[in-house]
Amino acid sequence: MRHFIQGIFWLGLYVFISLLPLMVVFLGPRPPGRDFVTELSVALGFVGLAMMGLQFFLTARFRTVEAPYGLDVILRFHREISTAAFLIILAHPALLFWRDRSFSILYLWEQPPRAWFAVTSILALTALIVTSVWRIKLKLPYETWRVIHGSLAVVALGFALGHVIGVGHYIADLWQQFLWVLMAGASVTLLLYIRLFKPFSMTKRPYKVTNVEDLGGQCWSIRCVPDGHEGFEFKAGQFAWLTLWGTPFAIEEHPFSMTSSSLETDYVEFGIKELGDFTSHLGELPEGSTAYIDGPYGAFTFERYPAAGYVMIAGGIGITPIMSMLRTLADYEDTRPVLLIFAATTFENLTFYDEIEALKERLPHLNTVYVVNEAAEDWEGETGFVDAEMLCRYLPEHPWRHQYFLCGPWPMLFNVEQALLEVDVPNTHIHAELFNLV
Ligand SMILES: Cc1cc2nc3c(=O)[nH]c(=O)nc-3n(C[C@H](O)[C@H](O)[C@H](O)COP(=O)(O)OP(=O)(O)OC[C@H]3O[C@@H](n4cnc5c(N)ncnc54)[C@H](O)[C@@H]3O)c2cc1C
Repeated sequence: MRHFIQGIFWLGLYVFISLLPLMVVFLGPRPPGRDFVTELSVALGFVGLAMMGLQFFLTARFRTVEAPYGLDVILRFHREISTAAFLIILAHPALLFWRDRSFSILYLWEQPPRAWFAVTSILALTALIVTSVWRIKLKLPYETWRVIHGSLAVVALGFALGHVIGVGHYIADLWQQFLWVLMAGASVTLLLYIRLFKPFSMTKRPYKVTNVEDLGGQCWSIRCVPDGHEGFEFKAGQFAWLTLWGTPFAIEEHPFSMTSSSLETDYVEFGIKELGDFTSHLGELPEGSTAYIDGPYGAFTFERYPAAGYVMIAGGIGITPIMSMLRTLADYEDTRPVLLIFAATTFENLTFYDEIEALKERLPHLNTVYVVNEAAEDWEGETGFVDAEMLCRYLPEHPWRHQYFLCGPWPMLFNVEQALLEVDVPNTHIHAELFNLV
């Protein structure tokens, strides 16, 4: 209930701030002799501008803001709403072209600087959308994209504000000026918070890497111990941004789910699969090196959803948040039934297999089903893919009384979710984590 109310509050605040500039248009003195189309165009421009400023807020990773939704939902909203904001902003000049039945505003050599500002802002926004939607096709490494993304956002917002000041309407009254200064100041403050204040505060809370363990199947377990502070509390299933080999001021930080129990206060552990330039060098990470952790984030946690029992379905490295849940349930000496269905390409990729089996001593009602795609001849578990037929064979008697946690590759999540809905598991009981935010 608390999260629901918080969620409504933040959404309401978002809508209020997006529409706030309209107050400037409707409550203040309006330039004389302007038609409806011009006023509508200006109103849309202002709304788009406010939405642009709010994007900084959405990506600032404020834990109180993300708590009701989960960071993945916030970032998905950030993506979807960007397109909406972009279209609203484009409607601003489009309506003016339509009003004039001419593109003469685009003859920039005849126009004052405010027109240049507007064009620069829209070009920056276009580049921002293109590089985000087609990042993979453009072969942009994530870190390069992040730098480009942040820079283009600042350019787009800065030049849009320059355009507003250059046009000069709706900034005549003191209260209007105050509102604009407040909005511009908030965006700059957010930027300083993200780039300077937050990294600086993280340098005051370093961690020492005390164990780097090869888990097999190209997976590593990294244990981090708080260095001179008490660490952070998290809920089993959440994730954090990890910085290794660098300072928090650097752009290189990666999200990983915690694998340790949420009741463990001495250290925090991550299970990481080799994938690209960052994860492939974990084996070379010297023990004793410094790490920085920004977290916790995410709403993918059983601790938020009381139930008669839990069904956890993991694919490959998607076992990591579920491992934390299992370890935590064991630490709580929980006696509720837990069904784990764990699928991987080969037996070697069933990371934590031995420990999961050992956990059965502490979790008397833990039932496990292992599924591999490429089975050895002596394999006695399931083979192939997790589908509706397989699920039906193992699901508890009253599936709707349980909460479901799914983490793995997208096709698996999609198929399993559809299968669960088919057997009448309520949508609200299904929680999925996809290891892809961008
Ligand atoms: C919420 C969440 C939890 C995750 N938990 C785990 C986990 O427990 N164990 C695990 O092995 N992996 C986890 N991942 C995936 C992990 O973050 C990526 O595998 C890792 O960042 C890849 O980095 P790379 O440079 O080695 O690979 P690259 O080849 O550079 O990147 C591969 C892909 O990973 C994504 N990615 C890369 N860098 C980042 C970044 N800094 N921030 C966000 N996405 C990025 C991009 O989509 C990129 O295309 C998680 C991801 C998310 C979003």
